[in-house]
Amino acid sequence: MPAVRLPLQEAHLRVLAEDVAADMDVPPFDNSAVDGYAVLAEDTTGATADSPITLRTLQDIPAGAMPTENITTGMAARIMTGAPVPDGATAIVMIEDTRQSVLTVETQERNSGGGTVAISEAARTGQHIRRAGGDVRRGEVVLFAGTYLRSAEIGMLATLGRTSVQCVRPPRVAIISTGDEVVAVEEGVVPPPGKIRNSNSIALAAMVREAGADLHSMHHIADDFEATIAVLRECANPESGADVIVAAGGVSVGDRDFVKPALEAIGTLDLWRVAMKPGKPLAFGRIDDTLFFGLPGNPVSAQVTFELFVRPALRKMMGRANLLRPLVMATLTESVSHETGRREYVRAVTVFENGGFVTAPTGAQDSNRQRSLTLANSLLIIPQEAADLPAGTVVDVLLLDA
Ligand code: AMP
Ligand code: MG
Repeated sequence: MPAVRLPLQEAHLRVLAEDVAADMDVPPFDNSAVDGYAVLAEDTTGATADSPITLRTLQDIPAGAMPTENITTGMAARIMTGAPVPDGATAIVMIEDTRQSVLTVETQERNSGGGTVAISEAARTGQHIRRAGGDVRRGEVVLFAGTYLRSAEIGMLATLGRTSVQCVRPPRVAIISTGDEVVAVEEGVVPPPGKIRNSNSIALAAMVREAGADLHSMHHIADDFEATIAVLRECANPESGADVIVAAGGVSVGDRDFVKPALEAIGTLDLWRVAMKPGKPLAFGRIDDTLFFGLPGNPVSAQVTFELFVRPALRKMMGRANLLRPLVMATLTESVSHETGRREYVRAVTVFENGGFVTAPTGAQDSNRQRSLTLANSLLIIPQEAADLPAGTVVDVLLLDA
C-alpha cells in the first residue's frame, strides 16, 4: 500500500512508512533523576547519618529553569527532578538522604537566601544524573519503517519533535452481502415471511474496522448474475474502487449462487473451496488490481473465514509483521467430536487456569448459530486427520480477544 502523511494522533495503530531519526539528544541536557541536592561527589565522602557533612546552599533549581551558579567545593544546590544539573556538580543526593537546616529569618537574610544542608550518605560520581543523549542520540534512527505505532511509539515520535509522519495507507474494503432472502435491518421491524436480517454486512464491516482497514462501501446484491457483475465492476473500478472486495454468500454450488461465476467472468478465480469447517466454499481471486474474497454466507462461516483469511491479508497489506492472533496450547476440558477430513475451527472459551490454558467449545457448532460466536473468545483447532478428541487432549487455540 502507498504511504500517506498523517497527523501524529491519527498515526496511532498504523504502520510507519519512513525511518525517523532524532533531531536532538534525548534527554537534551544533563538533568536530575530525583528531587535532591546537586553536589561535588567528593565533598560527600564519608558522610553518614551519624556524621553528616554540611554544605552551603545558594540556589534552587526547579524543572524548566536554568541554573545560575556553578557548584564549587562546599556548595550544594536544591534541584528538582528533570531540572538541568548545574555546571561543576558531579552527583545528586536524594532529598531522603539530606536534612535541610531550619534557618531563622535573620540568618536567611544574612546568607542572601542561602542556607545549609546536611548530607547523610556519600554520593557516587554521576549518581542520579540522567546524561544528555542517554536515551537517544541526535541523528540516530529510533523508529524504522515497518514499525507498528502503539502508544509507546506515538510518545517517542512526539519526543522526537514529530507532529505528522508517513504511514502505510490502510486498504479500502468493499463489503458485499448477497441473497434474495436478506433484508436490511430496520429498528423494530420484523422481516417479512421468508426473509432474514442482514447481519453479515454489519459484522464484516466491524471486522474491517477492527483489523485497522478502511471501509470503502457496502452493497447488497439480489441473486442475479448481471447485478452481481455490475456491483463487482463498480467495486473494482481502478479509479474509484476498493483495494479489497469481501463478499458473503453466493459462493457455493446452489442454482442461485452467482458470485463465483461473476468473478470468473470479469476477473480470475485463484482458489475455491478449502478443507476446513466452517467455511468450505471460500473463494479467492482478483479483478484487475482488486483482491476478491468470496466468503460463505452463513454468519459463523463468514466471520471465521474473515478471521482466518481476510484479516491476515489486510494486515499484510498494511505492513503488519504479525498476521495471526496469538496461538496457545490448551487442554480440552470435555470431549469434542470431529469427522476426519477437514480442519475444524471450533468456537471455544479458553481461560488460563492453574498454570496453563484450558478450553471447551461454546456448544453446538452449526455454522448458522451466531450465538456460539458471541460466547467464544477463541477458536480451538482440530487437525484435519484427527477423529473425536477425548477430554485431556492438548489442542492449538487462536485467542480472538488478544
Ligand atoms: P449462501 O452461501 O448464499 O447459500 O448463504 C448461506 C446461508 O447464509 C443462508 O442460510 C443465507 O440465508 C445466510 N446468509 C447469507 N447472507 C446473509 C447475510 N448477509 N446475513 C445473514 N445471513 C445470511
Ligand atoms: Mg445465497
